Amino acid sequence: MEFSYCCSQCSKTFKIEPELTICPDCAKTQAKDQPLSGVLDVKLCGTATAAFDIFDLLPVEVKYFPSAPVGNTPLWEPKNLRESTGFQRLFIKDDGANPTSSFKDRASFLVSAFAKKFDVQDITLASTGNAGSSMAGIGAAAGQTITLFVPEAAPVAKLVQALQYGATVYRVAGNYDLAYDISLEFSQRKGGMNRNTAYNPMTIEGKKTVSLELFKQLGQAPDVVFVSVGDGCILSGVYKGFSDLLQLGLIAEMPKIIGVQAETSNALCRALATGKFEAVPAFTLADSICVDVPRNGFHALAQVKKFKGSLMTVSDEDILRAQAKLSSSTGLFTEPASAAAFAGFLKAAPELDHQASIVVLATGNGLKDIETAKQGIHVPETLITSIDDII
Ligand SMILES: *Cc1c(COP(=O)(O)O)cnc(C)c1O
Repeated sequence: MEFSYCCSQCSKTFKIEPELTICPDCAKTQAKDQPLSGVLDVKLCGTATAAFDIFDLLPVEVKYFPSAPVGNTPLWEPKNLRESTGFQRLFIKDDGANPTSSFKDRASFLVSAFAKKFDVQDITLASTGNAGSSMAGIGAAAGQTITLFVPEAAPVAKLVQALQYGATVYRVAGNYDLAYDISLEFSQRKGGMNRNTAYNPMTIEGKKTVSLELFKQLGQAPDVVFVSVGDGCILSGVYKGFSDLLQLGLIAEMPKIIGVQAETSNALCRALATGKFEAVPAFTLADSICVDVPRNGFHALAQVKKFKGSLMTVSDEDILRAQAKLSSSTGLFTEPASAAAFAGFLKAAPELDHQASIVVLATGNGLKDIETAKQGIHVPETLITSIDDII
């Protein structure tokens, strides 16, 4: 298999090199408060059979990957939920089962291998949470040096996780955008690789492995996939995996991919309707999908349009309800951003074909944010002293 970069905007192709991140021509059109211009896609060229090895479809050879069991996450067949909803082919892809408990490991895994291949020891990034703790963990497995810039409001569990893994963490007096800018400048001055989402093309490419796995686990592509959306990199990664399979002739059509955003962090939905991105301050209790302007907005939107996907929103209340419902009916406890995809499924259910095979991507473990999860349940306050208090 041969690999090259292809600009998602101008379609110019480039050789894959660690120094190249964004299409240099499209980068010149970058406007303030807008998604990244010139996000690069990895293009593959070659043939494969349905028995392909996933590593053969990745642009870095298997020997460079760290020894951490990323991917191959379980595909749940939730019996109770299937019965209560009437969807007998409903599946939950549990990416909270990754080493650092989130989907982000798929991206970090490939970035780590890419850096290793080119003898790059230092990896830097800005993150509000999961991407940072993920890169820290996967970097620890690879013996790489991770520097992480986090905004003031980063959730504690994710911060502690990154520090446990031994990353150098700088807390920025400001938001994600400031952390992002400082991290880029840090990489430029100190060298090394930058893993910022969408900016590093390997982030989207690594995320495509979920679609390749689904194809293997189901023996075909599912009919419908629900994906929660923040910066839009997971959405693009899911599309990328299936479009590779389309290109290789292993599937006949793109599944229906439904992106789910929080009602109050819905930049991509708005852009689909209006054609433009506006920097409206986002807020949602689902911190991992709380994004003003999605970094990968242009790219993700183009794919939604090209493949006739759709975008929808759910309220924070829907998310909390879905989170508790998923936990109590399946035994899978996911973080709010992850529960958003399930909330999307519940909301869209009346319009879905009951015979369809439907996959809900669960992107992060619930223990990552217990403060929010507390809002969806009732924590008993009274202490009992004996059995007589309750019987
Ligand atoms: C990052 C993340 C998302 C959203 O992914 P984007 O690529 O930003 O759209 C969803 N769920 C969880 C748990 C995440 O960490």
